[in-house]
Amino acid sequence: MTGPRLTPLVQSLPATVPFVGPETLERARGAAFAARLGANENEFGPAPRAVAAMQAAAAEQWMYADPTSHDLRAALAKKHALTPEQIVIGEGIDGLLSYVARMFVSEGTRVVTSDGAYPTFNYHIAGFGGVLDKLPYREDREDLPALLARAEETGAALIYLANPDNPMGTWWTGAEIEAALDAMPEGALLLLDEAYIEFAPEEAVPRIDPEDPRVLRFRTFSKAYGMAGARIGYAMGPRETIAAFEKIRNHFGLNRASQLGALAALEDDAWLADCVERVARARARIVEIGAAHGLVALPSATNFVALDCGRDGDFARRVLAGLLKRGVFARMPFIAPQDRCLRISAGPDSALDLFAAALPEALAAAK
Ligand SMILES: *Cc1c(COP(=O)(O)O)cnc(C)c1O
Repeated sequence: MTGPRLTPLVQSLPATVPFVGPETLERARGAAFAARLGANENEFGPAPRAVAAMQAAAAEQWMYADPTSHDLRAALAKKHALTPEQIVIGEGIDGLLSYVARMFVSEGTRVVTSDGAYPTFNYHIAGFGGVLDKLPYREDREDLPALLARAEETGAALIYLANPDNPMGTWWTGAEIEAALDAMPEGALLLLDEAYIEFAPEEAVPRIDPEDPRVLRFRTFSKAYGMAGARIGYAMGPRETIAAFEKIRNHFGLNRASQLGALAALEDDAWLADCVERVARARARIVEIGAAHGLVALPSATNFVALDCGRDGDFARRVLAGLLKRGVFARMPFIAPQDRCLRISAGPDSALDLFAAALPEALAAAK
């Protein structure tokens, strides 16, 4: 008897997941975490009017969503001074990245990213047979000039840059990114992942002509809008590239209630601004908690803080294990030397109190 015939590519892939979810860790430890500060979720939550819209939509979930996401695209087009044809909605940035891989990557396609940058991107590229070229961070930032130079050398089709970056929270200015576009190799596409841009200073936002064929920008409702579970993200770019998504995307993949929630969230700029404020205060508190125990915080333009434990990755991994053991869910970078840091997401004071109590114990145990 022969088994089902996986493609040779899928047979060759390791059975890895980009991130192990906190629920899996909770099942393994046999208890829930008391503080959830590891997945860069926004515990301040969605705008109340977004919650109300999703609640109202719950009983109407028998309907498929509008497969064109007409209303949400129109609202986003208005917000960004674009036309709806320059926007595609997807199942979070993650879902859109998988479509990008499907659109631009076949076996052997070269793709440039940073070693230790967002792993979900790598996962999708590998899934379509792309060859990833991972460049080291430089001074804890993704090395933009080196990424472009390598793309030029290898003829890469795609260049991935998260600005601000996850897991370090660092960023390039918009002016630097605009200038870098002039060094883009012919025919390459910059994937500018702006998942955290609402938390970043205005200077981090580049001004890019939406019809510029060299760039696709990605945004999400998962972070600043506090709707990670709703799975709504979008890409902005030239009409021609955006139209190509229609050929391969999952047209009925979007949740109806989520789209209505996102639409309502867009109407509440005051809530968003307040959330960004609260996150900034939480970030300052994480910096303080770290400093009280000798940990230096990296500057962050996101909703998390990388705290430098001052020693190597093994030490930081022991500290992280100590936090998990004490019921505080956090994460850390995968790759040296960034893995000397812990990555702590902003959260309400109640969660940060638990972190503040667990950190000195975890540090003492790690030493
Ligand atoms: C959180 C995160 C995402 C995920 O966004 P979704 O819209 O929830 O899929 C994408 N990119 C980066 C860099 C992130 O940190």
